[in-house]
Amino acid sequence: MDSISPQGLKSRPYLSIVAPCYNEQACLPEFHRRMSAAAHAAANDDFEIVLVNDGSSDGTWAVLRGLVQQDPHILALNLSRNYGHQLALTAGLQACRGENILIIDSDLQDPPELLPAMIAALNEGNDVVYGQRRQRDGESTFKRVSAALFYRVLRKLVEVNIPADTGDFRLITRRVLDELNRMPEHHRFVRGLISWIGFRQVPLLYDREPRFAGETHYPLMKMLRFAVDAVTGFSVVPLRIASFLGLALGIGSFLMLFYTLGSWATGEALSGWTSIATIMLIIGSAQLMTLGMLGEYLGRLYMESKRRPLFVISDVCCQRTEAGSMVSAALAALPH
Ligand code: UDP
Ligand code: MG
Repeated sequence: MDSISPQGLKSRPYLSIVAPCYNEQACLPEFHRRMSAAAHAAANDDFEIVLVNDGSSDGTWAVLRGLVQQDPHILALNLSRNYGHQLALTAGLQACRGENILIIDSDLQDPPELLPAMIAALNEGNDVVYGQRRQRDGESTFKRVSAALFYRVLRKLVEVNIPADTGDFRLITRRVLDELNRMPEHHRFVRGLISWIGFRQVPLLYDREPRFAGETHYPLMKMLRFAVDAVTGFSVVPLRIASFLGLALGIGSFLMLFYTLGSWATGEALSGWTSIATIMLIIGSAQLMTLGMLGEYLGRLYMESKRRPLFVISDVCCQRTEAGSMVSAALAALPH
């Protein structure tokens, strides 16, 4: 497996570092400096850094190409447009070749210096070492509270054990990545998919740092969409809520029937506008809500049924051309 090509390139480096980059031109030089230092310390020269430009509108791709000129460890991928964090990450994960894979954000919120501790934990016989946030500096109270709430609700809804306060920052082994790469779904919640895979997964507590530069790319709407992807991707409980709601309202309506018929029989029936209006509003909104829930699942089913590729790569840039062609071949061979 560990063959060396005539150019001295290992087909399976010890470590791959995968980071998605969207409008991160200001963070990337510093990210590269800190990440390379950590990688050299942990893996000597036996590593690659896969950086994916997710259709940035700033100079991210130009910065990445500049970094490739300086550093033979870097492989830069350019996606044809903005596909979103999870798909950009997926592109990098499908292209990387390492035996162990570090998933990290390129904005330095996840400290690269934790790499040695993660490798040590992996070497204790684990397959996934996930960073679990002790605290989140530099993020709004709203983001902290909503994230904390989201992870707790999610854990109640899904059967898979998705740990709380955990992002995508993690070190995984090749066998985990091979399983992940077999998953064809479009609405990806990568951290949940990795939890689903199983094997031995352990946390590593850390303090999430503020962004090195720029702003979050997860405004409220995107966060909500991400949350719905997470829930619908792992649970059909919301569909059951619809049935339970229907049942509860049905029982309520049946009891109401005694009251209405009784009032009619005793001649006490009033022209009660308030109660009728209230009942109509409750039933109307319950129906719309459950239709909406059904729609979320149906929409996802529809999108998946098209079987489109997850992303399109427009350029691959690295110093070692053979690495580029290996990556292109590997990506072409994947079941999209
Ligand atoms: N990102 C991306 N595509 C996007 C949005 C974000 O590749 O459409 C990358 C971004 O460059 C960063 C990571 O995903 O490396 C996490 O994004 P961000 O820092 O905006 O999210 P937050 O940390 O605020 O949740
Ligand atoms: Mg961030």
